[in-house]
Amino acid sequence: MKLTILGCYAATPRTFTNPTSQVLEINNHLFLIDCGEGTQVELRRNKIKFSRIKHIFISHLHGDHCFGLVGLISTFRLLNRESELHVYGPKGIKEIITLQLKLSKSWTNYPLLFHELDSKSPELLFEDEKVSVETIPLDHRIYTNGFLFKEKPGPRKLLINEIMKYNIDVSLYQSVKMGKDVESNDGEIIPNHLVTGPPAKPMSYAFCSDTAYYPEMISQIKNTSILYHESTFLEVNRELAAPTKHSTAIQAALIAKEANVGKLILGHFSTRYPNIQLFKEEALSEFSNVELADDGKIFTF
Ligand SMILES: [Zn+2]
Ligand SMILES: [Zn+2]
Repeated sequence: MKLTILGCYAATPRTFTNPTSQVLEINNHLFLIDCGEGTQVELRRNKIKFSRIKHIFISHLHGDHCFGLVGLISTFRLLNRESELHVYGPKGIKEIITLQLKLSKSWTNYPLLFHELDSKSPELLFEDEKVSVETIPLDHRIYTNGFLFKEKPGPRKLLINEIMKYNIDVSLYQSVKMGKDVESNDGEIIPNHLVTGPPAKPMSYAFCSDTAYYPEMISQIKNTSILYHESTFLEVNRELAAPTKHSTAIQAALIAKEANVGKLILGHFSTRYPNIQLFKEEALSEFSNVELADDGKIFTF
């Protein structure tokens, strides 16, 4: 799993900081999460192939999370894209995008498919044999979802030294990895647990976009490997968090602690602070494994 942060600052784009967007690479998928202004420039800067993006997840319709979307969709057209593009986002996103495409007479020449969301309960958005994506309902000034990306358990691990003890045909190894008992060439049924170990632990990534402190999400993200949680404010500006429905670094850390996640990544920093290290210092008072997002930063899990 590889996470590339394209932008992780609140509000307006600036010379050296971008609003929210990130790319999650998971089991050969390249999922784009949020698409603030400047996203396509950052995709190019990070040498991410546009054609590999087939699914875009938009958390909410505030500009710092979606104002880059129509530009990116338009660029895909200019690049002669042919493959489908799926956009998942709040109800209204289709109207916003299609109005601009209609009035500029710039309809896409590739299939553009919208999946509009309005449920306040978690919803399964995407699933294949290796990965699933579901919404995480959040508490912000407008309808907002986070997204939970989960790997499914892979095949069991072959214990080569053990399997060699039995006269098992190599063509059966795939069945063994799938957990089946197989018959050896000597006619003996070999119990699977003798020749395999448990599969690698599936990874999961929870992206929690703009939200007030919202403990209701904890049960859904319990034991997630990686949690990205917004932390717009430091303690000194705590009084701003509740009315704007944002979180402080400590509130993000409390969510991480209660949910028992493996690692917390902080982002969506207000640009009023000259040094983002302070976010990490504050969060560390509640949770020990904290990292800071930053534009262009890559996390590999
Ligand atoms: Zn925001
Ligand atoms: Zn917002």
